[in-house]
Formats: sequence, C-alpha cells, structure tokens
Amino acid sequence: MEANAEEPMHLYEKRIPIVPRWVRGKFRNFKSAVLVLAYAIYFVLPWVPWHRLSGINQAVAFDMVGRRFFIFGLTVYPQNVFWLAWLLFIAAVFLFFMTTLLGRAFCGYFCFQTLWTDFFMIIERMVQGDRPARLKLLKQPWNGEKLLKIGTTHTLFLLTSFWTAMTFVLYFGYAPQILHDFVTGNGAQAAYVAVIILTLSTYIAAAFMREQICQFVCPYGRFQSVMYEPETLVVTYEYRRGEGEKGRAGMKGDLKTREARQAAGHGDCIDCGICVQVCPVGIDIRDGLQYRCISCGLCIDACNGVMGSVGFPKGLIRYDSEINMKKDVPDNPHLNWNRLKVYGYLVALVVMTSMLAVSIMHRTDFEYSVQQVRQPLFVVLSSGKIRNRYEIHLTNDSDRDQSFHISTEDIPPGSLDMGLMQNAVVHPGKSVIVEASVEMDPEEARQHKSFEFVIQSQDIEKDHAEVKVSFFSENSQI
Ligand code: SF4
Ligand code: SF4
Repeated sequence: MEANAEEPMHLYEKRIPIVPRWVRGKFRNFKSAVLVLAYAIYFVLPWVPWHRLSGINQAVAFDMVGRRFFIFGLTVYPQNVFWLAWLLFIAAVFLFFMTTLLGRAFCGYFCFQTLWTDFFMIIERMVQGDRPARLKLLKQPWNGEKLLKIGTTHTLFLLTSFWTAMTFVLYFGYAPQILHDFVTGNGAQAAYVAVIILTLSTYIAAAFMREQICQFVCPYGRFQSVMYEPETLVVTYEYRRGEGEKGRAGMKGDLKTREARQAAGHGDCIDCGICVQVCPVGIDIRDGLQYRCISCGLCIDACNGVMGSVGFPKGLIRYDSEINMKKDVPDNPHLNWNRLKVYGYLVALVVMTSMLAVSIMHRTDFEYSVQQVRQPLFVVLSSGKIRNRYEIHLTNDSDRDQSFHISTEDIPPGSLDMGLMQNAVVHPGKSVIVEASVEMDPEEARQHKSFEFVIQSQDIEKDHAEVKVSFFSENSQI
C-alpha cells in the first residue's frame, strides 16, 4: 500500500480485530476432524496407563529423575538423542515435501497455533454467536450483556490455556500424582512456573495475537514462498472466470443468470464478500496469492456454498497450481508428483524414516565396548606370566536394573581376573566401566593372540554380546 504524502506514516498500526464467519464444507470438516484428533491425542495421552518393571507406569512420560523418556514400549535415554535429531530432520523434510505439493497446508490444518486459535474461535462463536452477533457485540457499549459474554469467553479461554499448560506438565512424571501434588500445593516449583508461563503464552497467542503469530513470529510463513513451484497447489481465485472482462458484479438487475452476466462481460464472482468474512487471517484471496494465506481452504468452502446457492459451477476458489491457471482452459486440479524436488524429498523421507525405524528396532537393551588399556600394553609379572588389562563399558538401555556376567572364550580357564566383581549391576540409563585383567604364561600367550569377551545379561536372556580382542606379549607385532 502506498503511503499518502499528506498523511504521516506510522511505524505501528493497531490490529483490526478479525471476526470470522462460520462456514460449512469439506475443508471445514477436515479442519474440525484434525482438531478433534490432535486434542484427543494431546489431552488423553498422559492418562493412558502402561505397565513397566521400573519407572513411570504411563504410556508416554518424561522421567526427569531417571533422565529417560518413555514412549509406550520404548525407553529413550540421553545416549539415544540422535533419534530426536533424526526425527526433527524427518519432520523438516516432511514439511518441505508438503509445502512443495500443497503450499502451506501444514499451517492451515496441523500447526499448534492454528489448532488452538481455531478452538478459541469456536468458543467465541458458542458464547457470542456467529459473525453478525459478534460484530454487534463489539460495537455496542459496555453493558451487562457485553460484560457477561466477553467475561465468559475469556474465562473459557483461560481455562483452556490452563489445561493445555497443565497437560504439558503431566507428561513430566506420573500424571495422577503430579496433578494431586499440584492442586494440594505440594507440586515442584518448576511445575507452577511452567504452568503459569504456558497458560499466559497460550492465552496471548490464541486469544489475542492469532494470525499475527503466523505473520510476525513464525519464520516458516516467511520462507515458504521459496519452496513454492509453479506446480504447487495453493488456494487460488480463478481471476478470469471470477472477473470476466468488466470485473465482478453483484447479483442485481439483469445480472442474475450466468448467461446474462457473461453477455454483459461480468464474471462469476457476485462480490458477496463471504470468502473474506470466513478468512481467519482477514485477507481477500481475490487479490492473488498472499504470504498471509495459510491455505486453510475455508474460503473455498464459502465460495462453493455461494456458487451452489446461485446455481453456478463450484471451484471459483480452489486448490490449483499457477501453471494450470495459466492455461486457456485449466485442467482439473491435481497433485503434481512428477517433479525432481518431490522425488528428492520423497527419497530422503523414505531413506531417513527406514534408517530410524531400523535403528530403533535393532536396538538392544544394553550397549557395550571393550577397550584395551594401552599404557602399558602388557606387563610381565614376577611369576613370568603376561598380563593385559581391558576396560569394559556397559550401558543399560532397558527400563530395569541389569546384572551382567563377563567371561572369556578361547583362552585357558582361570586366565580372567575380575577381582571381587562377579557380576556388574547397572541401573537403567546408567553406564559403568568394569576393569578386567587377563593373565597367561608366555607359551599360552604365543598360542592365543586374540580371544573373546562374552557379556551376558542375567536379567534379559537375549542380551548377549561377544567381543573379539587382542592379547599382547613380547612376541606380538605391534
Ligand atoms: S485466503 Fe482462504 S485459504 Fe487463505 S487463509 Fe484465508 S480462508 Fe484460508
Ligand atoms: S465467495 Fe465467491 S462469489 Fe463471493 S465474493 Fe468470494 S469469490 Fe466472489
């Protein structure tokens, strides 16, 4: 917008409240279904029980004390943090993949900001009514009715924000216990601080800032345009059809049939403005693709409803690609997979997801390594025997204590000296280093230049490892 030379330009412009109209249609239904599913998962998961031998009996929980993360049957320790990095990388590629195919569909249907703002708008509509009633309420002076409706709306906003924050905290331990401690005043200080901060941030973001978060805070909204290609499906107004030669016109006078409108040079857009009224970010899609559009499809539902009611073909606003729109007669819109970028993202997704799945499936309940003590490599004892020392690192990745028995193969019995330690007990998520000495006389050392350590868990039968190591003596070639 050009600044008027007469008017001073302001660096700050007050936000004009957006009061969207409710709309019915398939994209609204899809949005609602995603909302219900996302809320069900988020709010119900901390209450799903899960039996464990040790740790929190809850399906999904962060065990802050034990420094581990339970996801159903999987226990993740800090040493598995690369899975998280991997997961974030997969999520980023998936986002790029979706953007290349469908523009900002993630923003419109799945983003937390969209989901919570959408729910808050549903609360607003339940308490204050649809757009006309809310506009009237906004303009009317403060009175008992306005106080009651606005007060009830914000009380429900705050309750939703509080329960969102509380639920987040419930993931950090055994949910019933955390909730009990919280309400009886015995909760951890961090829990109260987290609930206050998250309640306020949810309330501010979903009740007041809304689309401003997408416009000014979220970086993704700004750089998504570089991922668009001419084949990307975005929410588009078919300008030629809507405007005709002489522009859009209302359904008035002789312009009530499609034929009459075409004869008069007007397009199919009846300028009802419903597509603008339903838009949660307050833009007019007829002005072309805009960075503020989150591809939610609500204007498509709105316009399809209008077109249906006046007997014109639907699809004046639709998901379509720039390339298709440029054709004299556009084809039916469809996802265009046949692109190098799409194949690249798809291959990266399949490879990374498979690698992560294989890594998780093949993980054992313990990790190990055996390192030879190299300072010195060997010692000749006064008895004439030769001693090599080894450090055996054991990490327990299971959710229970494990006791490990260490033995050797391929060397004479009695060669291994573990001191007083018969079994090494390792707590869940912890690591220990066990020192082992192996002694052989020179003749035995000549015959056994290498041997195997056998590490066997006494608690989990399948957890068993054999590690080949070298035995050094004066005869060894180093
Ligand atoms: S223009 Fe349409 S698709 Fe874009 S944000 Fe508004 S309603 Fe959603
Ligand atoms: S809803 Fe359709 S007909 Fe109405 S103004 Fe928007 S584009 Fe035009």
